[in-house]
Amino acid sequence: MQSSELKNLKIAVVGAGYGGAAAAKALSLLGARVDVYEQANQIREVGAGIGLRPATMNRFREWGIFDAIAKVTSPSEYFEILTATGDPIMKEAWPADGEQTHTHLIHRGDFIDALMGVLPAGMVHLGHKLEGIEDKGDRSVLTFAGGSTVEADLVVGADGIKSVVRRELFSDQGPVFAGEHAYRAVIPLDAAHGMVDDDNLRMYIGRGTKVYLLPLRHRGQVSFDITALCPDGTWTPRITKDDLLKTVEGFDERLVSITRDLDMATVNIRAVYDIDPVGTWHSDSVVLVGDAAHSMLHHQGQGANSAIEDGGALADALRRAGSVKEALALYQATRKPVTDELQRISRQGWSEDEIDEVFPGQKPAAAAPQE
Ligand SMILES: Cc1cc2nc3c(=O)[nH]c(=O)nc-3n(C[C@H](O)[C@H](O)[C@H](O)COP(=O)(O)OP(=O)(O)OC[C@H]3O[C@@H](n4cnc5c(N)ncnc54)[C@H](O)[C@@H]3O)c2cc1C
Repeated sequence: MQSSELKNLKIAVVGAGYGGAAAAKALSLLGARVDVYEQANQIREVGAGIGLRPATMNRFREWGIFDAIAKVTSPSEYFEILTATGDPIMKEAWPADGEQTHTHLIHRGDFIDALMGVLPAGMVHLGHKLEGIEDKGDRSVLTFAGGSTVEADLVVGADGIKSVVRRELFSDQGPVFAGEHAYRAVIPLDAAHGMVDDDNLRMYIGRGTKVYLLPLRHRGQVSFDITALCPDGTWTPRITKDDLLKTVEGFDERLVSITRDLDMATVNIRAVYDIDPVGTWHSDSVVLVGDAAHSMLHHQGQGANSAIEDGGALADALRRAGSVKEALALYQATRKPVTDELQRISRQGWSEDEIDEVFPGQKPAAAAPQE
């Protein structure tokens, strides 16, 4: 599209997570008028670390925000997979993307703060919970709790795994329980019993449990994450220290000690869900990005990274295509095959016999999505 057309576009982004913030940045760089509507009154993220892949960091370089993000990260060279007791299974350099060879390890809270910090003042409107969307062809109308409405030429649904935009326009299929829990905490480096002395991600695998040590040495901390098979699909399950200790039985004694020392009040506990691939992500004036489009399990560490790449691909498509309608089709054609595959392989986190052991003769029961 011509830059004069892009400048006249009024874009409404629903959701100010990584996907919404990245799309807002990329689209505002096209010159479009962008507003972001977020249901929460305060932007907050879970206490845990993630790795920003080389392709993601390249997008940040392209958007002129590399330094703002990189300064709250530690560059990492490789990841390693080990047995529960620490015998090496494999060690691999992060897949490079052009000049960028490092994955950057970041605290989720720092990441969302850094992204918010690079958006123009006044772009994000907090306390706006989307309740309905009317697709009128070449524009759409959003209705928020309290009754206020907004009309836009393009609506970007970045409202996460329980997306209202997806449910209203594209799919009534709810999230799917993965039969596992994630327990995540950020601990001081010196509480890691000497297990962290570089900036590389390590995953220890036992039967039905994976333990991740993701260094955040720039903060003097480590993200300590346990993912364990569990049949309880309650979104925010009640888990005790003893439950946690059972998941790491037989692991390296230092991992057991880290678990024993955890302050349960600081541990984020949740059942893990994804969604089945959604057939269509767009109409002529509405499009899905991030978890709203393709929520995936975290076994490949690609959900947030994919959300960032979506924003970049959507902006590229608008620049290349002749109209919004064409651009949305091009965006889906570019991104959906990639995320369909990531959704598929992310579901291959466990062996059949591990699953049989935890769910003998039964399927994990999903709970209804909660607000
Ligand atoms: C245990 C675990 C570990 C993970 N580890 C990794 C990892 O290592 N690497 C990685 O890349 N990814 C990882 N992920 C995935 C990653 O967290 C998600 O893919 C990512 O947060 C998706 O971003 P998003 O912006 O699409 O959605 P979200 O982060 O869910 O943001 C959606 C936003 O929309 C808002 N919203 C929702 N509904 C409405 C509404 N009706 N109106 C207005 N606003 C609304 C929400 O409040 C929220 O701010 C992990 C996920 C889990 C569960």
